[in-house]
Amino acid sequence: MTSSTSPAASTVDRAALVESLRWRKFPVLDDGFVALVDCMGDDGAVVQAARVSYGEGTRRVSDDRQLIRYLMRHAHTTPFEMAELKFVVRVPMDCWRQWIRHRTASVNEYSTRYSLAIDAMQATADDGWRSQAATNRQGSGAPLPAADGHRFTQAEQDLHVLSRRIYEERLGAGVAREQARKDLPLSTYTEAYWKIDLHNLLHFLALRMDPHAQLEIRRYAETIGREIVAPLFPLVWEAFLDYRVEAVRLTRLDQGVIRRLAARGGGRLPASHADFLAAQDPSWRDLARCRERDECLDKLVSLGLVAPPETAP
Ligand SMILES: Cc1cc2nc3c(=O)[nH]c(=O)nc-3n(C[C@H](O)[C@H](O)[C@H](O)COP(=O)(O)OP(=O)(O)OC[C@H]3O[C@@H](n4cnc5c(N)ncnc54)[C@H](O)[C@@H]3O)c2cc1C
Repeated sequence: MTSSTSPAASTVDRAALVESLRWRKFPVLDDGFVALVDCMGDDGAVVQAARVSYGEGTRRVSDDRQLIRYLMRHAHTTPFEMAELKFVVRVPMDCWRQWIRHRTASVNEYSTRYSLAIDAMQATADDGWRSQAATNRQGSGAPLPAADGHRFTQAEQDLHVLSRRIYEERLGAGVAREQARKDLPLSTYTEAYWKIDLHNLLHFLALRMDPHAQLEIRRYAETIGREIVAPLFPLVWEAFLDYRVEAVRLTRLDQGVIRRLAARGGGRLPASHADFLAAQDPSWRDLARCRERDECLDKLVSLGLVAPPETAP
């Protein structure tokens, strides 16, 4: 939708864009994918719904952009619910377990009670194994050496072969599919239709594109976001990146640290790590480990206000 194209031409362009994306399988991980099945609405649908509350006004694209950015900044969310997307996805069970926690979507999943389990398991390459994160108990740290990873990859392949063999032996001996599947690993792929409105999709993407999310589900979220949502909803996507994904939220405590840093005598930027510790929130001072302090430091480092700890004097 551009200001120079007629409504009829933009409708044709839009239909062609949706058609070019429908059923196109974007690969994720070693054997997964996401594909758009259908899409209802566009940036204009968000604007149209919002104008019911804000009045007609002018209809230039620049106004649409400003309106969408305003809605996103101020969490006026219902206009984003006017657009809907339906996907078909192929995801390993461990990722799917996290995915399915997002309750605001409609789901229909491949049934391994009715059908044979998909004969594909997500495999990890020698150099794909990650160490346990030192600070975040849920996350990953640095990659492990590929020489060590080779051992894990070999063992994984053996397990995949063994578990599939046991599964098929059970089926061959007449065990019910719903019971035979119980020892298949979490790396087994599943497929599902997944339909969600744009507001809740952005919520999913914000959580699952975040560096705190597991790398594997992050790959899916990034693919949905960059390959499908970005071209279909360019104005919404731009606002989403600006105000959600790449925004930095400063808490009251963070603001106090910044004010104390700014008020320190003769201070230049970036402040040293010692200055940061001197300016920290009083409630953090006696704590040997404090996640909130670490998060504040990360934010101030990213803004160039404090030197990274390793380069601090
Ligand atoms: C990095 C990360 C780590 C996580 N770790 C864990 C973990 O250790 N253990 C664990 O169990 N989960 C974990 N989760 C899952 C997380 O707690 C949420 O369940 C998941 O992200 C879905 O988010 P949601 O409920 O906001 O989304 P949705 O289910 O899509 O809901 C969207 C929004 O709708 C509203 N909503 C939906 N249902 C209800 C309801 N019944 N009542 C009230 N409001 C509702 C809420 O505002 C909600 O934010 C983790 C998630 C992430 C991203």
